Amino acid sequence: MTIQWFPGHMAKARRQVTEKLKLIDIVYELVDARIPQSSRNPMIDEIISNKPRLVLLNKVDKADPRVTEQWLSYYREKGIRAIAIDAQAGKGMKQIVSASNELLKEKFDRMKAKGIVKPRAIRAMIVGIPNVGKSTLINRLASKKIAKTGDRPGITQAQQWIKVGKELELLDTPGILWPKFEDPIVGYKLATTGAIKDTIINLQDIAVYALRFLTEHYPEALKARYGLENIPEEIVDLFDAIGTKRGCLMPGGLIDYDKTAELILRELRTDKIGTFTFDFPQEFNEKVSE
Ligand code: GDP
Repeated sequence: MTIQWFPGHMAKARRQVTEKLKLIDIVYELVDARIPQSSRNPMIDEIISNKPRLVLLNKVDKADPRVTEQWLSYYREKGIRAIAIDAQAGKGMKQIVSASNELLKEKFDRMKAKGIVKPRAIRAMIVGIPNVGKSTLINRLASKKIAKTGDRPGITQAQQWIKVGKELELLDTPGILWPKFEDPIVGYKLATTGAIKDTIINLQDIAVYALRFLTEHYPEALKARYGLENIPEEIVDLFDAIGTKRGCLMPGGLIDYDKTAELILRELRTDKIGTFTFDFPQEFNEKVSE
């Protein structure tokens, strides 16, 4: 899905999420496990306000498992409930239900004690930036149990609720929010992981970012994939080495940099080079201690 985010669109997206917050007990904030911070909407805390929240680190199969653990500790330290999931393969689905139950236990107990409502399922909605896996997760949770539970009182537009077992009801349309735009590095991370289209940022620039990142953090994986004994210091030499090895050449034997960039990004996104995480919790530690 390609969405051009203009101020009007952002305001509308925000309004839609805010409206739906009234219908639900808990927000599932879906982020990409490879870029848990860069794939967040910059205003999410403000938008969600004090609604209970469960952070879901999706596409965990594509992330560095060691760093995923660090991210889970990071959230624990901040007192935020987070789970690593793979919506495509259906990993972590049961945990979503049990964590939701835990997070809402007090509220539901209070409601029951006051006799206000009879016990009901937890109502949830998924919120996240485009391509983070919202539809995949909805389909996965829905499994074969999709059931329309009818209109809710007090809302004009009919909402469809997807039943997830007896304990959970999920809004069938997710809240789509915009990613961060201000920081160019965040832009590169979003592009590297395929969260934003390649047409938005120059392909070679994305590949340069990705290669520099891998050289710094995952040099062995890079060397192994492209049969390099050493990683050249100059980025152009690294491009030349990979382009030569892979035959990304123009007539006359010159390196075709566009083709090389395309190859690197394709292999990176399909996990041929390895599984990597591009945001490290240490970068955001200042925020923890605030
Ligand atoms: P949405 O725009 O947030 O609704 O994202 P989609 O559900 O359309 O997913 C975007 C892409 O990510 C699709 O190609 C999905 O197959 C893929 N995807 C979603 N979840 C996962 C996951 O956990 N692991 C992997 N490897 N791919 C996923």
